Amino acid sequence: MRKYSRQRELILNYLKGTTAHPTAEQIYADLKPENPALSLSTIYRNLNLLSEYGVIQKLTTGEHGDRFDADTREHSHFICSGCHQVMDVFSSLLDEKELVKALGDNCEVLQHKLYLYGVCSACNAGKKEIN
Ligand code: ZN
Ligand code: MN
Repeated sequence: MRKYSRQRELILNYLKGTTAHPTAEQIYADLKPENPALSLSTIYRNLNLLSEYGVIQKLTTGEHGDRFDADTREHSHFICSGCHQVMDVFSSLLDEKELVKALGDNCEVLQHKLYLYGVCSACNAGKKEIN
């Protein structure tokens, strides 16, 4: 990534300043007013480039388009089906003994990406109030 364009830096800095795991469209909506020359296709191109180079990670959550995360540490994500927020989960969710049992001794897990789907505590609290 030799040519570090101004727009790419803008997108990366935006992503570093949020824990919301935004979609390309959300990034566009937030950056466009202050950066009239920015296009959605530029955002897509740069997000894909940055994730190819491992500077950010792309989250394919299976709903509402891909999400992007500037935090490249190994962690999992919880997706709320009520408010669609994506939350970080820094917890080891894999039982290594169980994995060895399932995959065999010679299998080596190098990285993992887990998506947990459910209802967040705020959405659950809201539901209880209605009932
Ligand atoms: Zn929720
Ligand atoms: Mn994350």
